[in-house]
Amino acid sequence: MVKLGVFIAIALYTSALAASQVSTLIKKDEKGQWRVTYSTASPMQRMVFQRNPDGSRAKHWVAQSELFKILYLDGTEAVVRADGRPFSEVSFDLPAVYTPLPKEYAAFSPFSDGGMLLHSGRFFACAEHCQPELNTWTLTLKVPIGENIIVGGKLYQNEVTWQERDSGSKLYLGKATPLAGPDFISLIDSELPSILQQQISSQLPQLMAYFTSQMGALNFRPALFASYSATEDGSYGHQGGTLPGQIFMHWYGHKAIEKLQPDAVFWFFAHEVAHLYQREAGAVDRSQDAWVHEGAAEYLAGLATTAVQQNKQMLQQKLTDAGQHCAAGLEKQRNYAKAAAANSQLHYSCGLLLNHAIDQQLQQVDPQMSFFRLWALFNTLVQDGQTAQASTYLTVLKAYVSAEFWQQLHLFSSQDDFDALKFMQQLQAAHQPGQVKTKI
Ligand SMILES: [Zn+2]
Repeated sequence: MVKLGVFIAIALYTSALAASQVSTLIKKDEKGQWRVTYSTASPMQRMVFQRNPDGSRAKHWVAQSELFKILYLDGTEAVVRADGRPFSEVSFDLPAVYTPLPKEYAAFSPFSDGGMLLHSGRFFACAEHCQPELNTWTLTLKVPIGENIIVGGKLYQNEVTWQERDSGSKLYLGKATPLAGPDFISLIDSELPSILQQQISSQLPQLMAYFTSQMGALNFRPALFASYSATEDGSYGHQGGTLPGQIFMHWYGHKAIEKLQPDAVFWFFAHEVAHLYQREAGAVDRSQDAWVHEGAAEYLAGLATTAVQQNKQMLQQKLTDAGQHCAAGLEKQRNYAKAAAANSQLHYSCGLLLNHAIDQQLQQVDPQMSFFRLWALFNTLVQDGQTAQASTYLTVLKAYVSAEFWQQLHLFSSQDDFDALKFMQQLQAAHQPGQVKTKI
C-alpha cells in the first residue's frame, strides 16, 4: 500500500508538471519577421512567464489575435484571453531589437549581418503558474533555408527542437559560420570596431591562460558571441554575460564605441571570463547572495588586471569607487538584501569590497590559502551537491578567516536587522590604498 501510495503521488506529481508544460515555437520567416507560438496539450486559463524582470513583454510583444493580452500583475507577466475563456495556443509577433532588461539578458542581440543571438530563458512559459519543480522547457526554432542555428554548441539547419533548463542559454541564428579556435568557438560581428576585435583576439586568450593557470583548465571549450547593433534612438551601452559554456558580449549604439576605454574593456572581459572559471559555483541560487559571484568576478577581474596588464591602479580605483557606491546605496536602506533588491549594482560594488576583504583575511590567517583555492573548495562543495549560495561560501571560508570577521559576514548574509552600512564602512576603513596584495 505504501509503495502504491508513493507511486500514485509520483504519477499525480508528474502529470501536474506535464500539464503545466508549454511547447514553444520560435520562428523567423523569409521576411525577417519573428513570431513565437505557445501551445499546450490541454486548455489553460492563463499562461505565465517564468522569468519576469519587468513588464516589457506587455509593451513590445504583439498578440496575433486581439483576443489575447499580456497582463503584468504582482511582478509576473501572464497571457489571458480578453473574454476569460481557456485557450491552448497563442502567438506573438516579436520586435527583434536589442532591449536591455533589468538583471536579465536581453531576448535579442542582433549581429550587423542580420544574424541574431537569442536568450532562450526569455521565452520560458507555463500553463496556469510556474511550479518551482518545473525546470524543463521544450523549444523549437525554425529559420529560413540557408541560415545556421547553434544550440548547445551544435550546428543545425532550418529547424531544431530541444530542451532547456535553469536560466536557459544563448542561441545563434544566422548565416555566419563559427570559428573554432584554441580557446573558444566564436562568432564575432564583422562590424564590431577593429579596436574591439583586436582586444578580443589578443586579450581573451591571455585571460583564459591566466585563469587556467590559477583555477585549472575548463573541461569544455566555451562559445564566444560578440555582437554589435546600431540604434536609432541614440541609446547606447554594452552588456556581457555568461551562461553554462557560453560567454557573450553585445555593444549597441555609436556612442558605446566612441566612449570605449581599453582598460575598462579589459576589465569587462576579465569579469566575464572569471565567471566561466567560477564554474558551477558561479551562479548562486538566491538573488540576495549575488554579491558572492558578482563581487568575486569583480575581484578576480582586479587580480587579472594587476597580473596580466601590470595595472595595479585599476583595482585600487575600483575599490575606492565601489566604497562610495556601496555606502551611498546602503545609506537609506541598511538591510543589504532589500537595498540590493532595489539596486542590483550593489552586488558588484559591495561584493567587490567583501571579496577583497575576504582575500585579505585569507592571506593574513593562512599564507597557504588563496582566493583561487577558496573558489576551488567552494566548487568542490557545490559539485558534491551543496547549494551554490552564500552560506556554502561561508562554510568554506570558516577555517581560513578570523572568527570575528566570519561572524560579521555570517550576520551580513543571514540577519535582516544587520547594519550592512556600518560593516561596509569598517571594511573600507581597513582598506589602505596601496596595500592590495595579489598572488600572481
Ligand atoms: Zn557578472
